[in-house]
Amino acid sequence: MSIFKKWEKGSVLITDAGWGDSGKGKCVSYLTPDIGAKIIGGHNAGHTVVTNKGEFGLGLVPSTIIRGAPLNIIGPEVVINPIFLAREIQGLVKSGVKITPKNLMIDPRSHVIMRWHEIRDALSEEARGKEAIGSLHLGVGWAFSDRVNRRGIRLGDILARNWKKRVLAELAIQKGVIADMARDVKRKTGKESKVKKSINKDTLLKEIANARKVLLKYSGNGLARVWEGIDKDKRILFEDSHGAMLEVSHGSWPFTTGVNTALGAVHRSFGGKAVKSVTKIVTVVKAYQTRVGGGPMPTENKGAFGNYVRDKGGEIGTRSKRPRRCGAIDLPLIRYGLNVIGVDNKDEIALTKLDVLSGLKEIPVCVKYKEGGKTYLTPPSVEAQFLTRARPVTVTLPGWQEDITGVRKFKDLPKAAQKYVIFIEKELGVKITFIGVGKGHDAVILK
Ligand code: GDP
Repeated sequence: MSIFKKWEKGSVLITDAGWGDSGKGKCVSYLTPDIGAKIIGGHNAGHTVVTNKGEFGLGLVPSTIIRGAPLNIIGPEVVINPIFLAREIQGLVKSGVKITPKNLMIDPRSHVIMRWHEIRDALSEEARGKEAIGSLHLGVGWAFSDRVNRRGIRLGDILARNWKKRVLAELAIQKGVIADMARDVKRKTGKESKVKKSINKDTLLKEIANARKVLLKYSGNGLARVWEGIDKDKRILFEDSHGAMLEVSHGSWPFTTGVNTALGAVHRSFGGKAVKSVTKIVTVVKAYQTRVGGGPMPTENKGAFGNYVRDKGGEIGTRSKRPRRCGAIDLPLIRYGLNVIGVDNKDEIALTKLDVLSGLKEIPVCVKYKEGGKTYLTPPSVEAQFLTRARPVTVTLPGWQEDITGVRKFKDLPKAAQKYVIFIEKELGVKITFIGVGKGHDAVILK
């Protein structure tokens, strides 16, 4: 039986086969775990949860807190901008969400994102010139880079008694790094950097002091709580922030995040015990394809179809406000993504935004790629080198005109919509158990 209908035991991982933004927030809110744990990412990725109390945008706080999961943990592999997180918690509390040290725990082993990471992010993009990755200059990748290089400071340093000393020592080091990177911009582009590089020490300390006051009480050993939860047969939901294509090891590198996603992210935050506890993976797939930022996108459609889904689906970056690139659902890419995630036929797919496709005469679906005289059902690689050369082979399925936002049973969907879902299910070989038919919380068909 579908995990959305009955969840008795075991952990669930919720993730995305593509480039993110698939609507994971809504799927999360259909699962009520004992523990919700955010496994990876920074405040560049967010989720939206709509309830009858309104729409909640979440950045670092696990989405599971909205529907009242008893314990919500931000794992140690989530990089934290303490100023952002403090504001997010205060904002959620203001909107009526219950947040206490009992239901929210932040692991102090998380690295923190500071102003210097934002500057380094901007400098790195400036040095890349036309090859810029399209980062939002939030410093997420650079905080991960410090973590990997075993430097930088962690939340525990910010919360320690002698935090000022630790922050100022790091500031001195980072100033040197920034100066080096600014020189690199000049060397690579021939021009002086235009990035604002100064950091006001007093403002920095004041902002951290304010954030500390909010965050101090939530600090706790999230890793230990997850392990204890597994031993006590608690139902744990591991919430991914990204998708398979954004994974640094197997995604569309270099247009990726700097980390592993899905089970790799479960491991990074909570170790092998947590990975082995996962008995079900829910992969969220949008009914069409989108991508933000640079890098090749085989099914990108700059014509009528792309514009239609972009407008109707509100495909504008939540934080970046950039229009997302849109196109036909890319099954070869998703097949690859499912392999990265490790999905088998016991797992489930949540297909979101089917309602966005209503009103089209016909709907394109990419079923395979052609490259160098060969045909690929699953690409051998999704790196830029291959994806720029891959030509999508598209079939066209009939569309439907009816508004489906009020439909709650699969058999009540227009026949063409049913066929669209079944076609995707067959092509991917995994059951679609959740179908999103609208923005509202209840606009879902459970199959
Ligand atoms: P995430 O990055 O994968 O977590 O994506 P979000 O949770 O931020 O969702 C992206 C947007 O899609 C949000 O505004 C959701 O309310 C919206 N959304 C989710 N599911 C559906 C759906 O089935 N239909 C429509 N029209 N919108 C949806």
